Amino acid sequence: MDCFDTSGPELQLGGLPLSRLAERVGQTPFYAYDRALIAARIAAVRQVLPPGVQLHYAIKANPMPALVGFMRPLVDGMDVASSGELKLALDAGADPKHIGFAGPGKRVAELRQAVAAGVLLHVESARELQLLADAAQALGQPARVALRINPDFELRGAGMHMGGGAKPFGIDAEQLPELLQAVQQNGLAFEGFHIYTGSQNLRGEVISESLRRSAELVLRLAQHAPAPVRYVNLGGGWGIPYVPGERRLDLAPVAEALAQVQGQLAQALPGVQLALELGRYLVGEAGVYVARVLDRKLSRGQVFLVTDGGMHHHLAASGNFGQVIRRNYPVVIGNKLQSAQRETASVVGPLCTPLDLLADRMELAVAQPGDLVAVLQSGAYGASASPQAFLGHPACPEVLV
Ligand SMILES: *Cc1c(COP(=O)(O)O)cnc(C)c1O
Repeated sequence: MDCFDTSGPELQLGGLPLSRLAERVGQTPFYAYDRALIAARIAAVRQVLPPGVQLHYAIKANPMPALVGFMRPLVDGMDVASSGELKLALDAGADPKHIGFAGPGKRVAELRQAVAAGVLLHVESARELQLLADAAQALGQPARVALRINPDFELRGAGMHMGGGAKPFGIDAEQLPELLQAVQQNGLAFEGFHIYTGSQNLRGEVISESLRRSAELVLRLAQHAPAPVRYVNLGGGWGIPYVPGERRLDLAPVAEALAQVQGQLAQALPGVQLALELGRYLVGEAGVYVARVLDRKLSRGQVFLVTDGGMHHHLAASGNFGQVIRRNYPVVIGNKLQSAQRETASVVGPLCTPLDLLADRMELAVAQPGDLVAVLQSGAYGASASPQAFLGHPACPEVLV
């Protein structure tokens, strides 16, 4: 079981019914993440990874320190995208050898920190390469380099595109041969390549296609590399279902493509280490956001449940985190799962803006003040991806259970 069980009277987290967990936390709203679900999900991913393919956790998805610490022994490495995330990974005890630092616009101070830490830098531009060479020289310490490729293909079907076409991420594939020469001239320690094409992809065939084309691209560029390619980070972007009718990602084609790509790359680039970096897929389904109903209002025939939580803690559930069309997250009345009395209601937060909507006219158990609204699928891009200062309400605690 690697997602929440909704078959009992109350949502269960870490073996506790939701109402009891709320008492344990001592307040609402809060986020809760379930260790057992995360571990089960990682085990499921391991099942389809060919032996030797590393699994990295992309901290951006959920940077709660206790969660990052819990993940550390379960994954093979961590991918970070700021000095703050670098600190989290190092504090959690991740081996700098297996930390990758990506992201556009890395500052000189961040590059120096990363070189001093000995992590692998995923270089995103020609200028960054130069700044990195300067930092390495100043520190008298070699800089470990992977070049992030903006591929010359773009795939349909990813929720959020981060590669292909004109992008601020990575270096256009056609510019790479020249940059690989610059790596050589600057005496940087070249290790390999990084490709990340997009997030929230629910189609196994699209991910497979992306893996195959990424491998082809890497093989083409490897001919221009100043040193053997020892590392290839093939990205991830595996999605989770959010709305009814969205099908769970089928891992069978992904497993097949991974095995094929590994065989191909291992033959052409002996000793190459492959890695996948997953964020949302590892933690998204293991988290829930919990808010308490404060008021129940009837306005011209529509029921509004006003809660103590809202978009300031959970921007994505309100539909304002990059979604094109607002669709409801899975929301339940977490202490009344099996209640036969049901109605259509909207769940709103306490913010004085119509954007503060957690559920728009959904079928829910009839709820009263004191009941607990639970937003499922909330383990990724929740607390840290929300404007918590907006309107001056208290910040939201997070617990790992
Ligand atoms: C955001 C990001 C990830 C994580 O993406 P998910 O969709 O959460 O798996 C991985 N790699 C890079 C480079 C990213 O920017």
